[in-house]
Amino acid sequence: MSIAKETGELLSKLGVSGSALSGGDLVVRSPVTGEEIARVGQVSGADVGKAIDAAHAAFLKWRLVPAPRRGELVRLLGEELRAHKEELGRLVSIEVGKIPSEGLGEVQEMIDICDFAVGLSRQLYGLTIATERSGHRMMETWHPLGVVGVISAFNFPVAVWSWNAALALVCGDSVVWKPSEKTPLTALACEAIFARAVKRFGDDAPEGLLKVLIGGADAGEALVDHAKVPLVSATGSTRMGRAVGPRLAGRFARAILELGGNNAGIVCPSADLDMALRAIAFGAMGTAGQRCTTLRRLFVHESVYDQIVPRLKKAYESVSVGNPLEGKALVGPLIDKSAFDNMQKALEAAKAAGGSVTGGARVETDHAGAYYVRPAIVEMPSQTGPVLEETFAPILYVMKYADFDDALAQHNAVGAGLSSSIFTRDLQEAERFLSAEGSDCGIANVNIGTSGAEIGGAFGGEKETGGGRESGSDAWKAYMRRATNTINYSKALPLAQGVSFDID
Ligand code: NAD
Repeated sequence: MSIAKETGELLSKLGVSGSALSGGDLVVRSPVTGEEIARVGQVSGADVGKAIDAAHAAFLKWRLVPAPRRGELVRLLGEELRAHKEELGRLVSIEVGKIPSEGLGEVQEMIDICDFAVGLSRQLYGLTIATERSGHRMMETWHPLGVVGVISAFNFPVAVWSWNAALALVCGDSVVWKPSEKTPLTALACEAIFARAVKRFGDDAPEGLLKVLIGGADAGEALVDHAKVPLVSATGSTRMGRAVGPRLAGRFARAILELGGNNAGIVCPSADLDMALRAIAFGAMGTAGQRCTTLRRLFVHESVYDQIVPRLKKAYESVSVGNPLEGKALVGPLIDKSAFDNMQKALEAAKAAGGSVTGGARVETDHAGAYYVRPAIVEMPSQTGPVLEETFAPILYVMKYADFDDALAQHNAVGAGLSSSIFTRDLQEAERFLSAEGSDCGIANVNIGTSGAEIGGAFGGEKETGGGRESGSDAWKAYMRRATNTINYSKALPLAQGVSFDID
């Protein structure tokens, strides 16, 4: 069966009508073969305004529904996702080129965040605070915030929406989602899955609780600029974050910015090398290097360099690259030609800076429009040139170090620090890495790679954005507004000493 036909069948099972998949002006291609799989319609500027108005009207009603009842809707969403995990996971693989376990893993993350948010719907706690006034009580209350805008990147086409939406919904907010223009089909599928949950939930879920805007950066900009959207959670490149951040700040709206990751690991003399090798290979080559948490820089102590780097190179030379839908390959395609061109440019720049490149060439297939590459490992004399930037492709730059402090300083010496890891059995090195003077990233791990975060912890937090946060822990607070309430149950109104008003 052709991929286009399979896509149509999957979407039909997921509840998306065939008429939504043809006749539009946005051509959707599968990176697996490069073939066209749909043509969907895009929103206009006026559509964005209408969608936000509808979501705002929904918010005004939804905020009055008790939070545990709101949690029930998210519980049903989790059930629908469980029931459609296979189809949605397969669609992710087709639209993004992830291998089957990664496509399914992404849907599992959606299920996990729904479970988390259901519990959270009974735990949106405020504090009761000791007051300095007698006969008073002081407390804080958390209220729903409003319409939450979600802008997502192509490489996690469904999980990122759910990390935001599950929290926003239990917090009493409505959601307007602008997915990547490269992945509109999985977004339409999520919209249909959500509609099923709403149908089962009943009438107290207002119309307009979720709106999906299919379109490019201009639709994202319209969402960012809209006065009725008090929070935008935007996931994507640092370039996008630099455009979105100031616009939101300009109208005092909140921003959760989850951006690029030029992530690094340190391999110390005492490391369990077998464990480190497996974690490095998975973290650097998984999803063809197209994860925000992909391992991109590696600092290896000179005493173990020759034991680890030749073995890594072997793994790079032997890893199976190919069609992710056939279930044998570990590395699937790049998303498109421009990703391939960027990778080649970075490798050329690395060579010019004295790097020695293993791998990186295009892997030929029967499909001229698909871009498969052998992952590249580049031994660099120092951290210069392309090593300082995130290239969204499977390139791992390896550098030798002699002094731990120097490795730590190099580790922290790039802009986009999202995730980090250290491989060591030395307690002092491990603890220093996690300490205030250690890794400056939002995620810092010991003896586990940079990728594969769990939803229970707050995710992300590039140092440049001051730590945008979504998903677990107390990330929910960004989706609500806090009020401090003081209640006077005394018979007097205490004023500042010496102040009195004549009110008769
Ligand atoms: P991208 O920045 O090209 O696009 C991301 C989204 O932003 C898309 O929906 C796009 O339409 C929108 N957009 C682009 N310019 C915009 C603007 N000016 N205003 C409003 N919206 C705009 O990113 P991509 O290529 O889709 O994804 C890859 C990037 O995303 C990588 O840098 C990766 O590290 C990052 N990423 C980060 C995380 C995280 O949680 N930190 C997760 C996934 C991906």
